[in-house]
Amino acid sequence: MTSKNESLFARAQLSIPGGVNSPVRAFKSVGGTPRFFVRGKGARAWDADGQCYIDYVGSWGPLLLGHAHPDVVQAVQASAANGLSFGAPTEVEIEMAELLVSLLPGLERVRMVSSGTEATMSAIRLARGFTGRSLFVKFEGCYHGHADSLLVKAGSGALTLGQPSSSGVPPETAQHTLVRTYNDCEEIEHTFAEMGDKIAAVIVEPVAGNMNLVAPDPAFLHALRALCTRHGAVLIFDEVMTGFRVGPKGAQGLYGITADLVTLGKVIGGGMPVGAFGGRRDIMDCIAPLGGVYQAGTLSGNPVAMAAGLTTLRALQAPGFYESVTATTRALVEGLSTSAKKHGIRFSGQSVGGMFGLYFRDQPPTRFVEVMQCDVPAFNRFFHAMLDKGIYFAPSAFEAGFVSAAHGAQELAETLAAADTVFAALSSKA
Ligand SMILES: *Cc1c(COP(=O)(O)O)cnc(C)c1O
Repeated sequence: MTSKNESLFARAQLSIPGGVNSPVRAFKSVGGTPRFFVRGKGARAWDADGQCYIDYVGSWGPLLLGHAHPDVVQAVQASAANGLSFGAPTEVEIEMAELLVSLLPGLERVRMVSSGTEATMSAIRLARGFTGRSLFVKFEGCYHGHADSLLVKAGSGALTLGQPSSSGVPPETAQHTLVRTYNDCEEIEHTFAEMGDKIAAVIVEPVAGNMNLVAPDPAFLHALRALCTRHGAVLIFDEVMTGFRVGPKGAQGLYGITADLVTLGKVIGGGMPVGAFGGRRDIMDCIAPLGGVYQAGTLSGNPVAMAAGLTTLRALQAPGFYESVTATTRALVEGLSTSAKKHGIRFSGQSVGGMFGLYFRDQPPTRFVEVMQCDVPAFNRFFHAMLDKGIYFAPSAFEAGFVSAAHGAQELAETLAAADTVFAALSSKA
């Protein structure tokens, strides 16, 4: 008998390329049938066959409050009842901008867009317009959305599908993108010594979360700050994933570094399509209508999306919020590591705030080449065995995981009990 998930996936493939609207959803690297979800509540989500999962994907990061938080749902409903979009300014956009400016270091001006991809693409254009330079630096395995010039040695879905770079990107476009090694201070210092006066920007995931999780060497981030300042390049922290995820001020707050521009997405939309970029006023004032760098969007600052994002951001201000999510995430990783060790599985893990990485290798990786050394078949066996037990991790060995405030002691206990059984089975097979 075919399950409902299977028949939906078969049907989806007749009208949607690969049956999905974003590639990693297709389960291509882990094999099997993607789950089609019908409902979510708190830490859990239910698929078309009625199976319940503890969800560690959280829509790939946005759901820091868990699924269908009552305040967020209520705010969305109230806003929708007053009209879905105007294409003209609304007060809620000011409230969102004021809140972001008050919360994030260095954010003097901010513009809303509808996705992380738009945010990073616009930030690069802005940095080029501001400096009058063309080159920019990104790091191998970092993902900054799917704009042409950024899809060079990007992680995430491209990595999962074994395509470090996309076809369809003209070499002339990619030639302005310099790809360097994450966490390698010497290499980037050399690059700036050679051509610092031609570099418009450095864009970096301050905690890399699209090649599994790779934590930064703080000295690396400080070196980027110093080099950009010295050479007049714009430092862009891509905090689409880390913003309000690793701490109340994002990675900037965590590492005590203020970037020139910050890109945001995911959490700031609370599950609705929202992105933003902002930073220094002298740079931000270069965008239209004030300046000559064009950037626009029919649905930018959409009031329903702003309502969801604002309500989410306000909920995160509760005392102890980050201490609690951070502790839960750490306990998850430590529990999994202890269990794997007990059963003799080569495994390691680490977390930063509410995001985590699980690796089928002895030590957490510090750069892309080490991520590639993880045992992917072992991850795939672990993934499917956990899925069968109602635990939903990202369907790829190269993605980070996410914990929400709705994940409590009960979810943790269920997850660790399932993992202990799975690790025991994996070790007896090895
Ligand atoms: C998710 C992500 C993006 C792209 O955001 P979309 O909303 O998927 O376009 C960009 N940068 C980083 C670091 C991300 O994690």
